Amino acid sequence: MRVLVLGGTTEARQLYGLLERHATRFYTTVSLAGVTRAPVLPALEVRIGGFGGAEGLRDWLLAHHIGAVVDATHPFATQISGNAVHACAAAHVPLLRVERPGWIPAPDDHWTIVPDMQAAARALGTRPRRVLLTVGRKDLLPFAGAGLHDWLLRSVDRPDDSLLPPGCRVLLARGPFDEAGEEALLRQERIGVIVTKNSGGSATYAKLAAARRLGVAVIMVARPPVAAARTVADAAGAMAWLDGLHAHGAATLRAV
Ligand code: NAP
Repeated sequence: MRVLVLGGTTEARQLYGLLERHATRFYTTVSLAGVTRAPVLPALEVRIGGFGGAEGLRDWLLAHHIGAVVDATHPFATQISGNAVHACAAAHVPLLRVERPGWIPAPDDHWTIVPDMQAAARALGTRPRRVLLTVGRKDLLPFAGAGLHDWLLRSVDRPDDSLLPPGCRVLLARGPFDEAGEEALLRQERIGVIVTKNSGGSATYAKLAAARRLGVAVIMVARPPVAAARTVADAAGAMAWLDGLHAHGAATLRAV
């Protein structure tokens, strides 16, 4: 069966590992947006770049005889997830989304939960603060006019300077991060508030545990709404779904 995995997350990478071991049953193509400069690539066929909207994706699915799509993109990557819903419906291809559970505040966390980046920028207020920004490169614009804060952005790749808030320093780093390292960073930089988005998962959770211990405030951007699809929480769930489809396909073939 030919499978398309829309990737770019830890769960996607875990699924690649499972699919690499089952290459006789599944011929997999992994699709990446091409936004990360040095992505971690699987030992599977990889294509890079957009499809040209939902219609482009539908055409690609049909042209490549895809039997199943796993959308393992990030919970904030709502455009591609919406496109996958529409394209799969139009091409009559089964779709599964892998979506890790969101983070939930503990009783001694100091979170302000906001609906989007603009609200996060407003929530910082006007009194200058030392801010650790971990919102990703493409969501920086609302912070450019958000006040005279002392900004530290942590990002996998360096953003274009024009996107950075004034005077913002950039720390290039790729997770996973551990609690001791995160606590050291918060102390060393005397961070007063972390601005982040509710990505969920363990790779970037340590900053929240460190913030809890140090009493550092967190402005948490809630997950955006996304088009409905059948969903599992992890790569193992996706693999079980694919196995089920494969078994069903094999049984149907035996019956004809
Ligand atoms: P997005 O806003 O939902 O998508 C924007 C456009 O990028 C899509 O319409 C599509 O172009 C293209 N695209 C996105 N993901 C793609 C994929 N896996 N393969 C081929 N084309 C893709 O997406 P995003 O938020 O920019 O995220 C881009 C990638 O980074 C995704 O793979 C996502 O998993 C990963 N990522 C995102 C975040 C985040 O916070 N947003 C964090 C970590 C990783 P066309 O319409 O032309 O097909």
